[in-house]
Amino acid sequence: MAQIFTIIGARPQFIKAAAMTRAIADSPFWNQTILHTGQHYDPLLSDIFFEELNIPKPTFSLKLITSDRSERMVEMRKGIKEALETSSPDVVLVYGDTDSTLAGAQVAHELRIPLIHIEAGLRSFDLAMPEEINRIETDKLSTLLVAPTRTAIANLESEGLFHSLLSGDIMHDNALHFTKDLHCIKTSSILVTMHRPSNVDSPERLHSWIDAVGEFCLDNRISAVFPVHPRTEKGLIKIFGKDFKSILMNQRIKAIKPVGYIELLKLIKSSSLVITDSGGVQKESYSCGTASVVIRHNTEWVELLESGHSVLCPEPSDLMELATSKHSQIIDTSDNLYGDGNASVHILKEISKRFSSL
Ligand code: UDP
Repeated sequence: MAQIFTIIGARPQFIKAAAMTRAIADSPFWNQTILHTGQHYDPLLSDIFFEELNIPKPTFSLKLITSDRSERMVEMRKGIKEALETSSPDVVLVYGDTDSTLAGAQVAHELRIPLIHIEAGLRSFDLAMPEEINRIETDKLSTLLVAPTRTAIANLESEGLFHSLLSGDIMHDNALHFTKDLHCIKTSSILVTMHRPSNVDSPERLHSWIDAVGEFCLDNRISAVFPVHPRTEKGLIKIFGKDFKSILMNQRIKAIKPVGYIELLKLIKSSSLVITDSGGVQKESYSCGTASVVIRHNTEWVELLESGHSVLCPEPSDLMELATSKHSQIIDTSDNLYGDGNASVHILKEISKRFSSL
């Protein structure tokens, strides 16, 4: 059998890998070797997804020692190189825009192994985001660019990159797959997630977002459920102390630990609004038929804005008006913005077509 070598390291990549894992498991031709870079090692951001989403245990798991970004890139590249030399795969698969994505792309390119980038062509046009640099560099090194949307294809073409496939979005595949048997009743409650450094690293800014969400909840006499990312938890402890959960409760915000994927989908589906700075959660809100307010200055998922399913909220002072405009909005997903729910099958077919004779 031919071998796909999958490199993953962060929460959204585990979820993305679940869709491809299902397609690979159904293929008589491919098997998969997985390397976990160790970028996210907290069990609530890592192990839980392997168990819940039926992803095989990684054959290679790196233990990163440093948290310094450039030193960590060196560590990841070293571990990935050793594993690739041991495994000699036919193709390398990387996802999204994290440091693990770029480290994997650089080593595959150096070793001349065909590189497939899933979620190619997304651009926020904001070079202050480390993810934007990771995306651009990875796309330049890729043999096959798997783009989820027409906008992503157009972005690639404007950079002179034409070896792409329009696949639809594999996170949409997952959201449809894991919600088909979920029956959730819509409540007036809302879901909030935030973890981007630009929103949570400055205590003043994080405090402003919390106050803005709290004001919206108190005004509307509704509650917010807020699964708190470890990075955000650090900020909340700085602002409110270790007992931040009870302080947030006074603003009708129920802070909880990060939840598993299925639980998150249940929360999205049963909420009347999602407020988020997450790329994945924006799209899952659409897939689950819930409107979202994206607390960022830009997004790579522009079709959500164009169709009115989401709205950008750059500043906490804008939240009341924008959340009010989207609360309880009905989302019609018949426009299939992210494909037919079989992106992973289309991707594997194309991989087989292009690389099976290697
Ligand atoms: N997610 C989850 N539990 C949570 C919060 C998020 O399972 O408590 C999932 C969510 O469904 C989404 C993914 O994590 O698919 C997104 O990861 P994250 O927001 O960390 O990264 P981003 O998408 O912004 O790169």
